[in-house]
Amino acid sequence: MRYLFLPFIILFSSVIYAQTDQKIYDIIENISEDNLRKDVQTLVNFGTRHTLSDTISKTRGIGAARRWIKSEFETISKNCNDCLEVFYQTNLVKKGENQRIVNDVNVVNVVAIQKGTKYPNRFIIMSGDIDSRVSDPNDFTSDAPGANDNATGMAGALEAARVLSQYKFENSIIYVGLSGEEQGLFGGKGLAKYAKENNWDIIGVLNNDMIGNISGVDGVIDNRTFRIFSEPITTSETDPEALASQARARRFYGGEVDGISRQLARYTYNTTKTYMPEMNPMLVYRLDRFGRGGHHRPFNDAGIAGIRIMEAHENYTQQHQDIRTESGINYGDTFEHVNFPYCKKLTAVNAITMASLASAPPSPTEVGIGGIVEASAKLQWNKVEGAKGYKIYWRDTTSPTWDHSRYVEDVTEFTLEGIVIDNFFFGVVAVSVDGHESVVVFPNKIMR
Ligand SMILES: [Zn+2]
Repeated sequence: MRYLFLPFIILFSSVIYAQTDQKIYDIIENISEDNLRKDVQTLVNFGTRHTLSDTISKTRGIGAARRWIKSEFETISKNCNDCLEVFYQTNLVKKGENQRIVNDVNVVNVVAIQKGTKYPNRFIIMSGDIDSRVSDPNDFTSDAPGANDNATGMAGALEAARVLSQYKFENSIIYVGLSGEEQGLFGGKGLAKYAKENNWDIIGVLNNDMIGNISGVDGVIDNRTFRIFSEPITTSETDPEALASQARARRFYGGEVDGISRQLARYTYNTTKTYMPEMNPMLVYRLDRFGRGGHHRPFNDAGIAGIRIMEAHENYTQQHQDIRTESGINYGDTFEHVNFPYCKKLTAVNAITMASLASAPPSPTEVGIGGIVEASAKLQWNKVEGAKGYKIYWRDTTSPTWDHSRYVEDVTEFTLEGIVIDNFFFGVVAVSVDGHESVVVFPNKIMR
């Protein structure tokens, strides 16, 4: 009887893989708007979460807020057979470090790690912020609800943990609440340092900062568009000779807009377009908003890929404001301005990006490119353990996104017939058995 099934096996073995994974749709479905609403309300109810606010009270201030966040992560962990390792990561910042640190303060992050089954030391990180502020950045007693900025990001990280902890992934995922953002990005700095000290191999950081406003100060209402900020290239290299040689290489071979954070941004863009086609992700080719900061930057400073995920239309009367009414305008970052269906969508964008990355093999580390004065471009890469195959991506030099691709089986070089090297940019990813892709690697070697 058994041999009767053989033709089917042969038939199916020629199928490469499904273009989409049902698990990712299930994840989108399972993100709960109600949980987000409840968690933002709870965070708002702490009155203020200013980094320098009360840490003793059980009901008010950043101490009570971080204890609640930690207990939430612990509850989530109980519901997945203790699958999360939950801890405080504490950074002492001394009075006078900058003008916004008016007392010595422990900047405390709350970290929850979901260990990967195959690559426990490779991490994808989702961050939100615990802290909030009002008009005066040093006012640590007035009510600072910080509903959109940034209880939404924090609630998103908690909800992503609730949903993704019900699955197992090959790579590790970290959900984190960072503190000290408004006082000078101290929580991110502290965690980036901790990551280096512990030799974490970080695939990337998805920093969520304000993911709940759809009604812009300009009058535009838009519940589909969101922004993905990323720096063009890493600037952490301090050796001037290395910097000069990289700049020289970019002049001749390209790569000015193809750093590791930009590839992570494009990955998030692609994953959204594939699984949430109703959304309109907007790649913004800059580190952050003009002259403003966010918690992905300290990771970028440490040479780690990191992006900012954020609403497209901000409302400045509802961020960093004392609660008040002036000329008929209600100022303040209060609960009623948050749009939870939108917050759910952006939380889902994070969750599916992390689920895809956490299911993917590592990227190839070496990618060579050749084809100078030839009709076809050649690519070569190192074999990746656990990859079923590879995908070569290319795009017009003026395109922001990887528009063309070709899947190839388990080989380590390939020639794209008739594709002239001069006219495109190229990159390579590793692909898992179920079709999940690593982040694109831009060629780092020239073949002559
Ligand atoms: Zn802020």
